[in-house]
Amino acid sequence: MKIEKIGVIGAMHQEIALLLQDMEHVHKKTLGKAKGARTYYHGNLYGKDATLVFSRWGKVASASTVTSLIDTADVNLILFTGVAGAISADLEIGDVVIGNKIAQHDLDARPLYSRYEVPQLEVDHFPAEPEYVRLATRSAERYLSVDLATEVETNILAEFGITQPKVQTGLIVTGDQFIADAALRDRLKTNLPDALCVEMEGAAVAQVCYERDIPVVVVRTISDKADHHVDFVKFVETVASRFTRGIVREFIAQV
Ligand code: SAH
Repeated sequence: MKIEKIGVIGAMHQEIALLLQDMEHVHKKTLGKAKGARTYYHGNLYGKDATLVFSRWGKVASASTVTSLIDTADVNLILFTGVAGAISADLEIGDVVIGNKIAQHDLDARPLYSRYEVPQLEVDHFPAEPEYVRLATRSAERYLSVDLATEVETNILAEFGITQPKVQTGLIVTGDQFIADAALRDRLKTNLPDALCVEMEGAAVAQVCYERDIPVVVVRTISDKADHHVDFVKFVETVASRFTRGIVREFIAQV
């Protein structure tokens, strides 16, 4: 498919702020009011027509953000970025996960439907388009192996124990819960053994995209191991937002 216009949604406002510095011919439009307002930035990003927006946190907020994005900006591909807690024991802080499937771990309408099944849609997860999953995976691998060393200071990488970050592709799970407890995380792992990481928006955005038939890719940088509360503002500002910018740049250059 020829991608005319891409929507980039970030779950952390710092990611959008950094990308906005690289956007040209920006014009912004705010929808909603006061504390509920969303600002959509339309312009040219790395040579492509794009709209940037901060999703906010949680399923309802992000579903609402992506719905307005689709309705007002006429995008034909969505790239969703953010941080996530690791579920797989193979993942370390700074690794990047690309979702090829995304499910809602807190959706349970039994006995009406099977566990995780989305009412009316007859699916228990949303698949991502393989072509864009491959491209996002290559973009992340390239960023980590080529650009990382010059874009993130060595002492910052050392502070977060990041040595050789890697990219994994697989199941991402979403729920309206910040998981910061090893027992809760392990229960998720038992119930959804393929899950690589947990976050609060991906499947909500993927559901809206599925319903509107718009391809979506979810890219998450691991910020924590979902076992205790970490204040990761510094991680997002100094590491994750740069990863996002680099991966988005590589992705857009090739899409
Ligand atoms: N900066 C805040 C936390 C933001 S948490 C602080 O440090 O207090 C919300 C974001 O983190 C959401 O986008 C969510 O998707 C993601 N996230 C990261 N780790 C997560 C975890 N362990 N469980 C659920 N969501 C997580």
